[in-house]
Amino acid sequence: MPKVAFATLGCRLNQAESDQMAESLTQRGFVAAPTESADMVVVNTCTVTREATKASRSAIRRAVRANPAAKVVVIGCYAVSDPAEVKAIAGVDAVLSNDDKESFLETLSERPQTRGLLQLGIGPSTPQMQPARVRANLKVQTGCDEWCSFCIIPTTRGPLRSMDEEAIVSEARARVRAGARELVLTGVHLGKYSYDLGSDERRLVTLLERLLAIPGVLRIRLSSILSRHLTPELVGLLAGESRICRHLHVPLQSGDDEVLAAMNRPYRIDEYVESVRRAQSALPDLALATDLIVGFPTETDAAFDNTMKVVKELSFSKLHVFRYSPRPGTAAAVLADAIPPDTKKARSKALIELGNMIRTQWLARHLERPLQVLVEDERIVDDVHVSSGQTADYVRVWFEGSGLLGGIHEVVGERVRADGVQGRLKE
Ligand code: SF4
Repeated sequence: MPKVAFATLGCRLNQAESDQMAESLTQRGFVAAPTESADMVVVNTCTVTREATKASRSAIRRAVRANPAAKVVVIGCYAVSDPAEVKAIAGVDAVLSNDDKESFLETLSERPQTRGLLQLGIGPSTPQMQPARVRANLKVQTGCDEWCSFCIIPTTRGPLRSMDEEAIVSEARARVRAGARELVLTGVHLGKYSYDLGSDERRLVTLLERLLAIPGVLRIRLSSILSRHLTPELVGLLAGESRICRHLHVPLQSGDDEVLAAMNRPYRIDEYVESVRRAQSALPDLALATDLIVGFPTETDAAFDNTMKVVKELSFSKLHVFRYSPRPGTAAAVLADAIPPDTKKARSKALIELGNMIRTQWLARHLERPLQVLVEDERIVDDVHVSSGQTADYVRVWFEGSGLLGGIHEVVGERVRADGVQGRLKE
């Protein structure tokens, strides 16, 4: 049987798509293998920041070095934004677009470099979801029509496109049959799910209700969503349904209206704060994560202070801080990269320090109280069985225990760790 390995970079959507591609290969007779012994390595790339592009290039080179005999297939946003650059990397056999992910087998069958491997497959095998994970990403949408001036995604992923509702529900059922207990709805622009089908935000609520009705679903989590899509219907559903995780990732990017305008973000700070506060008051236990960019070309000292002020005002649970770097092909790339590297570094440091303080305070709220942990991993560390999983508000918890995978268990938080909370099993 032909063997395949995947290397996936970037967002949850990429991870969901890698899972789907792996699944289609499994059904064609492929088996998963480490890169070193695979016949084909698929590198699913990202190019959202300069660092992501660099990491994608390194992953491609690593795959070629680890297994020069394997067919190396590069797909994803970096393969779309810079196909010539990717093709020029020695050892790359095929460069595919994001659209090819949906017809992955057909595309590989058409390519002379990979056709032979596909023919080696033993044909349809026993359908088997792969890989079986407690938490499964579910792709519900791709593409974006916002054209934020710093972002290349509308170019690499194209316009808004929603997955068929029946197909999503049927994939969710299959994932649950394979052992998934938490479904993570992923998309580039989750809040605009179904907009391209002439519908509105209510369809996301309907989809959530249908997914909740699948027996075996213990939790549903939403990936990143813009503040304006925190509609009363969506917040109301979260408030009334404890299986939808109290964790929202609502990208802010800047706390300054002029910077938001220059970024072409589809909201201003008052609107963001109002939407988030409404959600926070309806969901008092809500964990709120956000993304922030520092050093955008028009970010003055005063504008950065505004960002610090907003972050201090809103009770975030986690900050993801990025230093701006121009992406060729974006609107902002024509602006002079005016903020000196030292200033970017200092602003990033200040925001990260603030974020670390906020995070530690947030984690401390999980001590000496029972936490509902969906167990996702179990391993032996120094002869001790250590289990770990996430709370609904997205805190990773470690504790001693075994045989609990896939269930929700009560753990008492005892100590804050850099990456989560250490606890003890209550049962
Ligand atoms: S909303 Fe803006 S930042 Fe997010 S993917 Fe679309 S263009 Fe990029």
